[in-house]
Amino acid sequence: MTALTLSNIHKSFGKVEVLSDVSLTVEEGEFVVFVGPSGCGKSTLLRVIAGLEDATSGTVEIGGEIVNSTPPAKRGIAMVFQSYALYPHLTVRDNMGLGLKQEKQPKSVIKERVDAAVQMLDLASYADRHPSDLSGGQRQRVAIGRAIVRQPKLFLFDEPLSNLDAALRMNTRIEIAALHRKLSASMIYVTHDQTEAMTLADKIVVLRDGRVEQVGSPMELYNNPANRFVAGFLGAPA
Ligand code: ADP
Ligand code: MG
Repeated sequence: MTALTLSNIHKSFGKVEVLSDVSLTVEEGEFVVFVGPSGCGKSTLLRVIAGLEDATSGTVEIGGEIVNSTPPAKRGIAMVFQSYALYPHLTVRDNMGLGLKQEKQPKSVIKERVDAAVQMLDLASYADRHPSDLSGGQRQRVAIGRAIVRQPKLFLFDEPLSNLDAALRMNTRIEIAALHRKLSASMIYVTHDQTEAMTLADKIVVLRDGRVEQVGSPMELYNNPANRFVAGFLGAPA
């Protein structure tokens, strides 16, 4: 079963086309990494998938259904950003549960899902504290928890680790990989870190100037980059 199909997506801001004819698929349970230089359209593509931006043309299909006119909250997607914007006046638990509360989920459901996410992310001793008591890595875990409790079919991560230092980045990367195995959800993960791409991805999509340059497994791209651009990102040293 295909979790996501993008067909011929174009996106322009005014006269500037930032996505040009992007087509790709994400299979159910697949971990897909988007890589490419700053400004190549990675965040815009995630926002089109999430419904935060409309494509100028092309179709977005989630779970076999065209969702171009489905609002973001109804797409079965949760997004984790680089800047995790937690509410300072709410506890970890309440930050994680807020989205469910807004969805008017029963209190018992909220509690059950938040408790599970707190355990999964090793935040039990911080659950009743406020974001200001947490480290950067812990805050990012809360932001991931906020996504998990919504039980999305598809997670979108937009450079979630780029504000963390090297050691934390590695730990959190390992946690995200473990999470992917546990939840067996589909994930799209944007990064410009080669190690993250090579270690996390089932499939890597290389983007350049709003176009798909190459798609393949980490080893395919590493061993057979289509051109010097891809090689520069992921390939073996020449
Ligand atoms: P990336 O995430 O790969 O760094 P973005 O998707 O953020 O790239 O941006 C792609 C291009 O689209 C950039 O040139 C950026 O300036 C432009 N862009 C992004 N959002 C907007 C917007 N809301 N209005 C105008 N231009 C935008
Ligand atoms: Mg971006």
